[in-house]
Amino acid sequence: MDGDKSFEDVVQTMNSLLKPLLLAFRCRKDEFSGETIWAVVNTKSDELFKSATPYTPSEIVFLKRIIDHIMSSSNDTYCINQHEATRLSKDILTTFTYKAAESALETFANDDWLVSFSSGKYTLGTRALLDLDTYLRDQFPNDTRECYMCKDICIMGEMCNNCDISMHKLCINRLFKNGTVRRAACPSCNEPWESINSFGPTDVIPDRKPRSARSSPSADNKNLGNVEYEDDDSNEIQPPRKIRHY
Ligand SMILES: [Zn+2]
Ligand SMILES: [Zn+2]
Repeated sequence: MDGDKSFEDVVQTMNSLLKPLLLAFRCRKDEFSGETIWAVVNTKSDELFKSATPYTPSEIVFLKRIIDHIMSSSNDTYCINQHEATRLSKDILTTFTYKAAESALETFANDDWLVSFSSGKYTLGTRALLDLDTYLRDQFPNDTRECYMCKDICIMGEMCNNCDISMHKLCINRLFKNGTVRRAACPSCNEPWESINSFGPTDVIPDRKPRSARSSPSADNKNLGNVEYEDDDSNEIQPPRKIRHY
């Protein structure tokens, strides 16, 4: 039995113990850094934002409105700009001022619920995509894309022109090994893969880097164009180097 298999067994055991509590130990790749993030998440849709309890009730309402707006953005950008976001705070409470909304946005980005860009736009952060996976799939079945390769929700990727499957840009990068992409075929329908059907944020460098990237000097030069997966097998569960404590 090799080390990966042992870890897979540990994950399975943990998840069988967590299942009655409606919790699960899950991972996903950060769409910007490529880092694998592990977290214990809720599996019940109406447990939404249970782990966001340090926030005030107004902040939770505000965060939910922002996430719902991002998911239902009709232009496939999965983004909201700061002006649109702060407008969503308008009728929450008179005490929840414009300034409080701006401060909350910064907190949500620091806590990985959102990713902020220097352009002033926000998209969903890894914490939202991990913790709200069930909620997003249940509430936005027509707006939630699943990556054909890793099966995670995909907010930044490309679609096949022929059969409409979606893949993360990082998964495409891995699949086509950076450079053979022009000769690559869709893994579903086998038609040539043409990188023109993009969706998701057009900004590719977050203003605030993911927490782990901020502590890693080598991550400073990374952007979407040159991110490469480690040379491992994505179908195997890899032990986490770091587990985030939310
Ligand atoms: Zn993927
Ligand atoms: Zn296809």
